[in-house]
Amino acid sequence: MRRQRSTKIVATLGPSSSTYEMIRKLHESGADVFRLNMSHGSHDEIRERHRIIREVERDLDSNIGILADLQGPKLRVGVFANGSEELAEGARFRLDLGEAEGDATRVTLPHPEIFAVLEPGANLLVNDGKIRLKVVDCGKDFADCEVVAGGTISNRKGVNVPDVVLPLAALSEKDRDDLEFVCQLGVDWLALSFVQRAEDVTDARMLAAGRASILSKIEKPAAVKAFDEILKVSDGIMVARGDLGVELPVQNVPPIQKQLVRKCRAAAKPVIVATQMLESMIESPMPTRAEVSDVAAAIYEGTDAVMLSAESAAGQYPVEAVTTMDAVAQQVEADPTYREILVASRKVERSTVADGIVVAAREIAEATDIRAICCFTHGGKTALLTARERPGVPILALTPLRGTARKLTLSWGCNCYVVGTLSRFKQAVVNGARMARSKGFATEKDQIVVMAGVPFNVPGSTNILRIAPCEERLIFAADPE
Ligand code: ATP
Ligand code: MG
Ligand code: MG
Repeated sequence: MRRQRSTKIVATLGPSSSTYEMIRKLHESGADVFRLNMSHGSHDEIRERHRIIREVERDLDSNIGILADLQGPKLRVGVFANGSEELAEGARFRLDLGEAEGDATRVTLPHPEIFAVLEPGANLLVNDGKIRLKVVDCGKDFADCEVVAGGTISNRKGVNVPDVVLPLAALSEKDRDDLEFVCQLGVDWLALSFVQRAEDVTDARMLAAGRASILSKIEKPAAVKAFDEILKVSDGIMVARGDLGVELPVQNVPPIQKQLVRKCRAAAKPVIVATQMLESMIESPMPTRAEVSDVAAAIYEGTDAVMLSAESAAGQYPVEAVTTMDAVAQQVEADPTYREILVASRKVERSTVADGIVVAAREIAEATDIRAICCFTHGGKTALLTARERPGVPILALTPLRGTARKLTLSWGCNCYVVGTLSRFKQAVVNGARMARSKGFATEKDQIVVMAGVPFNVPGSTNILRIAPCEERLIFAADPE
């Protein structure tokens, strides 16, 4: 699908978005990447959503990214007999190891290791901190709490214990099991929750064994501290503001978001800003002004992607939420201030030939009336370097590998298309020009920039930049090779 914006949209799938019709509608309305959250839903449900996404992709002749989000060592309550309960301020509520479904007085917290380290006075934050419980009394299999801030608690909501250091491994048994399951299904991105150290990422990468790119969710103070090392070993980053804003004072989140977005761009790795972006749209067809500003702010910062969580997974207005993000992105990107900010925050890197070529491509394209930058890419590196430039003209990322096209759906400005394997540069020019014309980026009268590496099909070898006419007759006349 050709988009009228460069910022990408990630939409989480869930009960509100599981049918073919809905997933297709979400993609048509603007969702570029679908997130499958392994914390919710059975393997059968995940498999079915995955199958539908690939069916929509085929039917629309598109490329769709799939991001599987591993739960990680996150504490979650069990399920309720009624699905949810209201907790009133001042009431008592018990967490325990019992197997029965929860009610208004108690629910399961299936983590014995937590009860072992809890102490009276500890704060438990439920559902990204919306509900606050204070431990009054506890033992090896229960904690009696006072409800300090009430609200609706529902199935499998997350629990944070910011005051206590928890003895948890980065990848649980369930995570290893889920990782293998989604890698066999075939996903483009694996998101790791609660990463604390670079080793957490390299461990997961070993298990993924090249079957998916690795995205680290930054939601722990330790990950913020170790961010530079984590970024080095990750393929992408998510600013997971839900847990981050619980683990750290909430006012620390905006500066961290800004810093991470800039660092990811400098490293030419995609970054997603996530959580509560249009939270009120779970129940309302209209967002608040503040939410629209938040989405806009992330886009002005130059993020690769913005994300919907419960809005699209469990809300009443999933399509409206995607449409809203799409409209905000288009409006921001049309603002001259947006380009000014992107230019001012650009870091010029010229350490490799490819760095130099993408900078030249952008400068030439912006200084003349060239319509598109067309890059031939194997693993996606050249496209990522081009995206880092945040050029003022569209990027066409052409690749022989379906997996590369899908992976790049997360990256700023990349319009991804799969093309046949090439053996000569001339073919690249002809293919690039045809694609630019057929997808509406250029007409016969226009020129494009073409970047490629010769010899073809050797990763990391971008070494040619050609300004090419889009008219086929002229391409052949200019270059008989
Ligand atoms: P994470 O910390 O990984 O973001 P989360 O619990 O916040 O986990 P999200 O995917 O952000 O989950 O979605 C927010 C809420 O939407 C969830 O807490 C849950 O209530 C609901 N939800 C999301 N996906 C599903 C699903 N597949 N099935 C049921 N409910 C879901
Ligand atoms: Mg989270
Ligand atoms: Mg969430």
